[in-house]
Amino acid sequence: MSAKTGVEKVVIIGSGPAGWTAAIYAARANLEPVVLAGDGLNRDRMPGGQLMYTSEVENFPGFVHGIDGQKMMGTLQQQAERFGTRVKNHFVTKIDLSVRPFKIWHVNDLSGEEETLTLAHAVIISTGASANYLGLPSERKFENMGVSACAVCDGALPRFRDQPLVVVGGGDSACEEASYLTKFASKVYLVHRRDTLRASKIMADRTLANPKIQPVWFSVVEEVVGNDTAGVTGVKVKNLNTGKVSLIEAAGMFAAIGHTPNTKFLNGQLTLNDKGYIVLKDPFRSTTSVEGVFAAGDVADSVYRQAITAAGMGCKSAIDAERWLAEQGVH
Ligand code: NAP
Repeated sequence: MSAKTGVEKVVIIGSGPAGWTAAIYAARANLEPVVLAGDGLNRDRMPGGQLMYTSEVENFPGFVHGIDGQKMMGTLQQQAERFGTRVKNHFVTKIDLSVRPFKIWHVNDLSGEEETLTLAHAVIISTGASANYLGLPSERKFENMGVSACAVCDGALPRFRDQPLVVVGGGDSACEEASYLTKFASKVYLVHRRDTLRASKIMADRTLANPKIQPVWFSVVEEVVGNDTAGVTGVKVKNLNTGKVSLIEAAGMFAAIGHTPNTKFLNGQLTLNDKGYIVLKDPFRSTTSVEGVFAAGDVADSVYRQAITAAGMGCKSAIDAERWLAEQGVH
């Protein structure tokens, strides 16, 4: 920050793999970044983001035996701090992108409801997307004990091997998750509330042709069943046509009912797509509809949603921000 103006060169909002990678690159470029990491008030405001709820990350290159999600986020933060990144456990409530410098309001534990303000020449938005869950109390109870929203992250865990599993949803994600899980599971039940898949035809056809996947049509999950030792042991589903409730024995339930990008605080100031994700001006860059505002990670990516792709986008956003700031004469 310039002592004269009180304006930060670059503020990074969000602290998942995209945010920390952006911070590492920005800090090494002497931009003295500030990361507004989240205030931890609830699951969606947690510093570290979604990976804080993933017990093991086995697909991030560089970790032969995998790494605990929380540990990985802690390590990335330390790496960013080593180069001078300043981290504030603030949750961003609103932002004004119509003025220069940009204005960012936030709250934290200490400020309570009172908003504080940060000014920034450039902003990198890496607030991620939150997986939608069904919202059942039993679902929350067995999170990380058989309930997941990411087959690629968790599917290969020993608890799911050679066991029957349940996937909920009827879109491309549900089909993809169900197909992926057949690598490990003895059988996958695809529980969907209608009898038609929303997924693209090719994905739907492939899913329904898979002998290990059994669709359970017109059905919704009423309760996740299990115990403290084994975790999930089954899922109670209700048939919407008959009202009959039956138990599917399963070692896990994967919710694949969509994600919600964390873009509410933008209040329509950036161009979003019809699902609420930030639209990048150029798909290979991180630029957005407002000059000086860059986006990285799941908040701008509804397709890949992986830690490694988010990290790559974070890198791009810091390089884009650095070049843009140099053009503006901010060093
Ligand atoms: P989606 O297309 O919105 O599908 C969500 C599914 O969950 C729908 O089938 C919906 O049922 C069901 N659902 C929603 N809320 C539910 C609830 N409370 N209880 C039970 N079921 C519920 O989401 P998505 O599958 O995550 O896909 C999001 C976007 O990413 C799509 O554009 C998709 O094409 C894309 N995507 C692409 C790929 C790929 O091409 N490889 C992979 C993944 C995602 P209804 O059908 O009844 O509404």
